[in-house]
Amino acid sequence: MERTVKFTEGHQIFRESFRRFLMKEIGDRYPQWEEAGIVPRDIWKKFGDNGYLVPWAPEQYGGAGADWLYSVIITEELARYGASGLFVPLHNDIVAPYIHSYGTEEQRERWLPGCITGDTILAVAMTEPEAGSDLAAIRTTARRDGDSWVLNGQKTFISNAHLADLVVVAARTGGKETAPHQAMSLFAVERDAPGFSRGELIKKIGLKAQDTAELFFDDCRIPAGNILGEEGQGFIYLMQKLQQERLVCALGSQAAAEKGLEITIEYVKERKLFGKPLSKFQNTQFLLADLASQITAGRCFIDELINNHVAGRDVTKETCMAKYWVCEMAMHVADRCLQLFGGYGYCTEYMISRFFVDARIQTIYAGTSEVMKLIVSRLMGL
Ligand SMILES: Cc1cc2nc3c(=O)[nH]c(=O)nc-3n(C[C@H](O)[C@H](O)[C@H](O)COP(=O)(O)OP(=O)(O)OC[C@H]3O[C@@H](n4cnc5c(N)ncnc54)[C@H](O)[C@@H]3O)c2cc1C
Repeated sequence: MERTVKFTEGHQIFRESFRRFLMKEIGDRYPQWEEAGIVPRDIWKKFGDNGYLVPWAPEQYGGAGADWLYSVIITEELARYGASGLFVPLHNDIVAPYIHSYGTEEQRERWLPGCITGDTILAVAMTEPEAGSDLAAIRTTARRDGDSWVLNGQKTFISNAHLADLVVVAARTGGKETAPHQAMSLFAVERDAPGFSRGELIKKIGLKAQDTAELFFDDCRIPAGNILGEEGQGFIYLMQKLQQERLVCALGSQAAAEKGLEITIEYVKERKLFGKPLSKFQNTQFLLADLASQITAGRCFIDELINNHVAGRDVTKETCMAKYWVCEMAMHVADRCLQLFGGYGYCTEYMISRFFVDARIQTIYAGTSEVMKLIVSRLMGL
């Protein structure tokens, strides 16, 4: 079935060359990165050199001024390749938009060119040990002191934590008397800010090449000019960008589910038992027909959301539905496909095992499935 997203010939050429780029530059190096718990900086530079970082950024900052479908292609192809620890989509479509939308012209000129070349890797730090789903409960504070802001607190589960050169940090600037949605501001904390440090890499069951870690701010002093946007607007800024963040997450899950199904179909045709290919057992056929139906439903939903998002429409409710439903579906697909691989599916040598562990996080970060349902039910007037 043809996709309803109108990719042009230019998009298709871009997709093909990006696929070749991944084959050439990642090739079979990925397991080494999983072992190290981090991807090398040079791969980020190669992404930058080839125009794969923040491709939508305006030309005045060194970007290509490309439409958002180029970002969609990058996210889909990285997910299909299984390069799940390389958090380029987070950099391109989740963090860079904060700088572009809420930064001053001086901040955009200072930071965006490095984000595009790969010299400045981005992260966003919201979550704290005592505040995940309940973001308004964060305790990290920022206090104005002359020409500086002074940050104190701790963040956890921060993606790109070791690689990041610039971290967008959510911190409280309002007191107890301030309404929660007006008590938070966003700050850009640079790598060498005094009082800023990073914890050990967190050992995870999946996303093994992703450098997730804690961040610490001990009287961390940053220039007054590093606040992003207006003081007290941080919570609102974060909410305004969540539609794209959740869509990026869902479309990565969708692409991974599609690839997982493809490799499973290849496998069941090759694997022989009881004198015939595994694909000839009715259980295999019914299961794969079922998974393919769910994946096709997901694809229709995701493509409609991409179209609406690119057209600038508010699809908050539907994006939350997709973040929940598609990510849960992809997790189920990975689990059932692994089952068809038998014992081989449990071995890291087989790609399906990576799809399985990496699918697991998708229903948790960027808002858990439960939080998505909470928002959907509120938007349904319940
Ligand atoms: C690998 C990884 C990468 C991450 N990257 C980042 C990052 O780059 N930046 C960042 O800021 N954060 C990041 N996170 C944090 C992530 O967004 C949080 O883990 C997530 O929001 C959930 O918060 P929590 O872990 O504190 O769980 P909790 O909020 O404690 O939730 C625990 C359980 O309670 C459920 N729950 C919560 N609220 C309700 C409710 N109202 N009703 C019913 N059930 C509820 C949840 O769904 C969940 O099942 C990352 C996490 C991981 C694991």
